[in-house]
Amino acid sequence: MSYIVAENLTKTYDGGAAAVAAVDDISFQLKAGEFIGIMGESGAGKSTLLGMLGAMNAPTAGRLMVDELDVYGLRPEQRADFRREFLGFIFQSFHLVPYLTVIENVMLPLTVAKGGNREKRAKAQAALHQVGLAEKANRLPNQISGGESERVAIARAIVNEPPVLLADEPTGNLDTRTTREIMELLLQLNGEGMTIIMVTHSPDCAGYARRIMRVSDGKLREDQFNLRRIETWQKEESTIDLPPSRIQVPAAGSLHTG
Ligand code: ADP
Repeated sequence: MSYIVAENLTKTYDGGAAAVAAVDDISFQLKAGEFIGIMGESGAGKSTLLGMLGAMNAPTAGRLMVDELDVYGLRPEQRADFRREFLGFIFQSFHLVPYLTVIENVMLPLTVAKGGNREKRAKAQAALHQVGLAEKANRLPNQISGGESERVAIARAIVNEPPVLLADEPTGNLDTRTTREIMELLLQLNGEGMTIIMVTHSPDCAGYARRIMRVSDGKLREDQFNLRRIETWQKEESTIDLPPSRIQVPAAGSLHTG
């Protein structure tokens, strides 16, 4: 059974005479535990698609089913609950609150959750431990590096233990070495069972995904297994260095249910 099913997802923005289809009739199915890289040029429709998958942007046509739940059939407040429980988000800019400490930033999504402060702090500390930042819990955002800020943002995204993590250009502002560290962290989270959907224009980053989709002009042009990645996984190597040219693999036609 598929976990996430995008059925003819379409988003048209009313641009007066010329309406723009930012996402144009995209269908696919994801299983739990997949790691998907969505690639495409600027303006291709990646962020719009991710927003729709993230229950934040209602399609003008089509359906999003998650675990047999029709996400946009939910009332707005139910959808907000769904988003909170089911999804974690990380963005290119970290959006850390500058006057809160690292651990307080990670605790933010727990504000509305049940439980006492001590319990929430323990959860946040565990998330920080998971991203390798346990020691820096009491620093302020201006006392940590860019890569560490991204880790804090990841800890904040996973503190609720969502089954699905959505990432929009998560390494867009980071240098090569830090990018690699963050991608390794996403791999680790995926290895622990988290489903990851990542938008990127970077072939190097997409190389970490197990499955790569390419979008242009709002259409899904390719949907392929990253066979190279799977081979590497099977050899249980922890570090992967995929030059862009090696990402291309024969089409896994069965994936695209179109
Ligand atoms: P990407 O993330 O691949 O750069 P986007 O999803 O941001 O692409 O945008 C896809 C297309 O939809 C672009 O042509 C963009 O200008 C248009 N678009 C995105 N958001 C809006 C909006 N809110 N209103 C009108 N057009 C939009």
